[in-house]
Amino acid sequence: MKAAVFSGPQRIRVLDVETPKADSNEVLIKTKAIGICGTDLHFYSGKNGTLKDLFEQIKTIIFPSKTIIGHEFSGFVFDKGKNVHDVKLSDRVTAWPIIPCHECKYCKMGLMNLCENIRSWPGVFSEFVKVPSKNIVKIPTGLSYEEAAMLEPLACVIHAIKLAKIEKHHSVAIFGAGTMGLLILQLTKSFGIEKILATDILEFKLEMAKKLGADTVMNPLKISPHEKKRLMKDVDIAFECVGGSASTLNQALNLINKRGRIIVIGTFTSLKQINMLKFRQKELIMVGSEASERRDFLDGIHLLINGRVKVKPLITHKFPLENIKEAFEVALEKERTKSIKVQIIP
Ligand SMILES: [Zn+2]
Ligand SMILES: [Zn+2]
Repeated sequence: MKAAVFSGPQRIRVLDVETPKADSNEVLIKTKAIGICGTDLHFYSGKNGTLKDLFEQIKTIIFPSKTIIGHEFSGFVFDKGKNVHDVKLSDRVTAWPIIPCHECKYCKMGLMNLCENIRSWPGVFSEFVKVPSKNIVKIPTGLSYEEAAMLEPLACVIHAIKLAKIEKHHSVAIFGAGTMGLLILQLTKSFGIEKILATDILEFKLEMAKKLGADTVMNPLKISPHEKKRLMKDVDIAFECVGGSASTLNQALNLINKRGRIIVIGTFTSLKQINMLKFRQKELIMVGSEASERRDFLDGIHLLINGRVKVKPLITHKFPLENIKEAFEVALEKERTKSIKVQIIP
C-alpha cells in the first residue's frame, strides 16, 4: 500500500510499504478521509519540545522503522479477523485512537484516556490501517467520510466540555479559533450559552468564528489593552486552544472572573510560567483535557446528525495522499493559505 512515511521535521514522503493484516481481533480499514491535526503539525514542524517523548514513543514502540503519523480518519471495513462479529465488510467506520491496557488503576476507574500504558496503532496517513475491533465506531449513512474524519477532534472537544461543567448563565471565552476553538464555539452555543468571545491573531479565523455564532471576536494584536480589558470583562469559563508557546494561559488567568474555570486543550510544546499568585487570589480552577473517551465519539455522531455542530465549513483544503507534503505546508502556513482543517483524500 501507499503510506506517507515521516522521517523528521519537514520530511514526509509517500512510499510503498507492506499492507497490514488484520489479526483475529482486528479490523483492516481502507481509509477515505484523513485529517491533519495540530499534533501532526508539531511533529512535522520540528517544534515539538515537550512532545519529544511522545514522538519517540510513537517511533520506537509503534512503528519501529517506518513512522506513519496521524489519528483522525474514516474509511470502510476492508477485512477483519476471525473473532470480529460486530462489523461487516464495507461498513463505514472511524475509530477511537487509543489502546488502553485495561489493567492500570485509571483503566479500572473507566478513565481509559488516562491509561498509564496507553498505546495507539500505526498512524493513518496511509491507504490502509488496522485497528482493534473494540475501537471501531460505525458511521451512520447521513455522514460523509470527510465529516466522519472530524469526529476525533470533535470527541476531544466534547470531552473538554464535559470537564468544563458549563452552565447556561456562564459566559465563555475561547482562546484560539482553529478547529478546536470553532468546535467549542458551536457546542457551547448549542447548549444555549449567549456570551461567547473568540480570540485569535488571524483575521480569517475570527470571521469564521463570527459566522459560526461568536457574539464578540477579538484580535489581541489589533486592539489597545484598555479595549481588551473591556471585551474580556466577565468571563466565567475560558478554553485555551492555542498551546505551542503561546501566552494565552496567562491572558486567561488575568482576565477570568474569580472562581472561574480554565480548560487547557492546546498542546503546549514549551513549559510555561503561570502566574500562581493570581491563580490563588482568584480561587481559580484549571483543568487539563486529554484526548477523548470512546463514548465521546458516539456523542459526536449525535451532534453531527442533529446538525447542532457543523464540521464542513472547517474543512478548507483537501489533497490526495501523493501531495501530502504540500498539504502539511498548507496546514502549517495558515496566514498565507487561510487553512483551518486540511484533509487527505487517499
Ligand atoms: Zn487530532
Ligand atoms: Zn491502563
